[in-house]
Formats: sequence, C-alpha cells, structure tokens
Amino acid sequence: MSEPRQVTGWVSNVKILGKIAFIEVIDDLSLTPITIVVKKETNSELWELVSKVKLGSALKIEGKEPQQVVSKKGRELHAEEVQILAEPQDLLPIDVTGKTPASFDDYINYRYLALRLPKIRAVFVARSIIFQEVRNFLTSRDFLEVNTPKIVKAGAEGGATLFSVDYFGEKAFLAQSPQLYKQMLMCGVPRVFEVGPFFRAEKFSTTRHLNEGWGLDVEMGFINNVNDLLSLLEELVTHVNKRLVESMGDQLKSLGFNIIEDMKQFPRVTYDEALKILNSNGFDLKWGEDFDPKAEKFLGEYFQQQGTPAYFITEYPWDSKPFYIMRNGPQKSYAFDLDIRGIEIASGGQREHRYSELYRNLVDKGLDPNDFKFYLDAFKYGMPPHGGFGLGLDRLVMVLLGLQNIREAVLFPRDRFRLVP
Ligand code: ATP
Ligand code: MG
Repeated sequence: MSEPRQVTGWVSNVKILGKIAFIEVIDDLSLTPITIVVKKETNSELWELVSKVKLGSALKIEGKEPQQVVSKKGRELHAEEVQILAEPQDLLPIDVTGKTPASFDDYINYRYLALRLPKIRAVFVARSIIFQEVRNFLTSRDFLEVNTPKIVKAGAEGGATLFSVDYFGEKAFLAQSPQLYKQMLMCGVPRVFEVGPFFRAEKFSTTRHLNEGWGLDVEMGFINNVNDLLSLLEELVTHVNKRLVESMGDQLKSLGFNIIEDMKQFPRVTYDEALKILNSNGFDLKWGEDFDPKAEKFLGEYFQQQGTPAYFITEYPWDSKPFYIMRNGPQKSYAFDLDIRGIEIASGGQREHRYSELYRNLVDKGLDPNDFKFYLDAFKYGMPPHGGFGLGLDRLVMVLLGLQNIREAVLFPRDRFRLVP
C-alpha cells in the first residue's frame, strides 16, 4: 500500500458485492472514476456508512492505493475515512452512472451534473486545452494578447445582425467581432490576437451557429502577402490539434470521439477551383455566389476522401466579402476561408491598408465613411500592410472532436430559444 492520500468528488456509481463496497467517484478532472473500496471485515462502521451512500453525493475520502488494482477502470483507493459532504435532496435529473442517456436539452439544462459524465466532461477538458494552446502558440510567435470593447458604436459590416443596447440613452451594439479595433492596433503594435466573445443577432436555426460565441481574432502587420496568413493559420490549427491528440487523444478515442489524429498539409484551392469542383459534381452555382452549407459539406467530403479534412478556399469574389478586404484585380479579393470537415472555421484575408483605397471600398459597399472616422484615422499614420483572420473557437472545438452540434461544445449555449441557464 502507498502513502495515504485524499480524494474529493462525486459518487457516480455504487456497487455492493457481498461484504465489499465499491463506490465510484469522479474526482478532479478525471475522465475515469476512481473506485473506492471498503471491506466490511476491515472496517464495519465505515462499510455501514458507504454502503448506504446516495448516488451523486459529494465525498471526501482518505485512503491508500493498493499495490494491485482489481477494478477494470484502473484506479482504486482503499478507504480509511469517508466524509459525506453533501447529499442530493432530489432525484437526480440525469443519470450520473451514464447508463440511461438524457435528452440533448437536459445535458445543457443540468450542465453541472452532466460534467460528471466522462464523455461530456471530456469536451470541456478538450476545450480548455484548445484555448490554452491557441494562446501558447500565438504568444510564442510574439503576438500580443489584447482585449477590445464589446460595447461598440458601429458594427464591422454594417448593422443588420447586431444586438442593440441602450448606452446611457445612446444607441450602441454588442460587438460582432473585434475587426475594426484589431486593425487599428496594427498602427501601433506589429501582431495582436484576442480571445473573446462575439454576438450575432440573427435568428439562426443550424447546428453551427450561436448568438453568443467565442472567437479568436488574429491580426498580423508587415506581411508580404496573404500566404503569410495562410501559413500562420495552418500552423496554429495543426499545433492545437497535435497538442490535443498528445494530451488526450487516446481517452477521446476510447470515449467514442471521432478525432483527427493526423492533420496533413492543408490544400489551398481558389474560389474558382472550388466552384469548378462543385459544378462538375452536380451543383449549379454561379460565379460570385457564396457556397451554401450543402456545397460546403460536399467540399468537406471531397477533401476528406483525399485524407485532408482541413483546407483553404482563397481568392473569394470581392463582392461577397467585407469592405476592409483588399481587392485582387477587378473582381476578386485576398479573402480566404478555412474549412474543416465541411464547416467554415475561419475567415480572413489581407486588408486594404491604403487610406484612399479603403475609403473608396467603404463607399463602394454603400457604407458611410463618416461612421468609420475613428477607424479610418488609424490609416493615416503609417499603417503597414496587414491581414488576419477570425476563427470560431466553438466551431473549432466542435470539428476537432467530431461533434454534431455546436451546442455540445459550449457550457451554456445562447441560441434563439436559450437564454437560461
Ligand atoms: P457563416 O457563414 O458560417 O455564418 P460567417 O462567414 O458569417 O460564418 P465570419 O464573420 O467569417 O462568419 O466569422 C468568423 C468565424 O466565426 C467563422 O468562420 C465561424 O467559425 C465563427 N462564427 C461566425 N458566426 C458564428 C455563429 N453565429 N456561431 C458560431 N460561430 C460563428
Ligand atoms: Mg466567414
């Protein structure tokens, strides 16, 4: 036997086999419960206590790890002392043994209880690793982590999809993205990133849209061209996935997650090439149209067959992209998307950094440059060539874990029908 140690957690299963009690406890951030063993013949008082312990109770256990573990799950503690810290007052609304599945909504409504289930807990452990690794990667590349306002006067792309707020009698909005701010910062620091919430007021009803999400925004100055951005984004996503697979890939697989074990180099196809692929496979898309979810899904399967779940689509038509994107000839732009498994994960591009061109772009998109004065001013004082991307972190979690619905990747999702809890 080892030195005594302490375990705290919740009872996720109780089995009494003759005179031995096996209490499974989900502790720390573990993805398999630890089995607490109490033998009647060793300590009958303790046996009495634990054999009546209620499923879901919070416990503190003192005990020793045996030399030989009998439990199939691999972790075991022979208890010497057990304290029941709290007991459920009601029947548990979801089965914490995991045997009877609950409804999709109840896993969200009772998220705190669902977090005791290894399969759901694993999503949020993975999410935390993904967020950390995003930060690790970018700080190691000398990006400054910044925070920009979430209550704003103007939206990045107009104002149609913003939640409005009353700001001391003035109309303001919840920020849809840090786009304008991160670009303004390019006139003061060379590279920035932000991990923060964004808000979109559309009445979505899809499995990949939320009304409040978490985004990663990156902006890089002094770039040579858009390829610098594609490489950065490819290295970032590859790094994050690699670290995720290293730290918990086996556990994720044994819990049934369809992870991406090996991320190959991301193919880069132009919008024109993607359109050709689609139209020679039964689609009838006109040049300039955005790809709808059906087309995105098809492309996802097309690239999956080649063993590359992640791919870039570049040189989008300028008309389909926001004013701040740099034009590439009369019709195209330096905008790109990163799609993984047929779902858009990030949009980015080289920006227009020349004041007069940017001004003209605003006018061409039917926007009033006066509304953007605070932003435009930053382009007067030595704005370097720059570009970046916005990446949906909830979507990244979703696709890296192979989840079917973005709501599974978020603790308390906000959609049209969900404001509580
Ligand atoms: P989509 O076409 O899928 O609606 P978008 O092109 O409107 O997305 P962007 O403005 O490019 O979105 O935002 C950058 C990234 O943020 C997207 O690539 C996506 O990963 C994520 N994102 C955007 N909107 C949402 C949303 N409503 N819910 C969750 N993630 C989102
Ligand atoms: Mg986009």
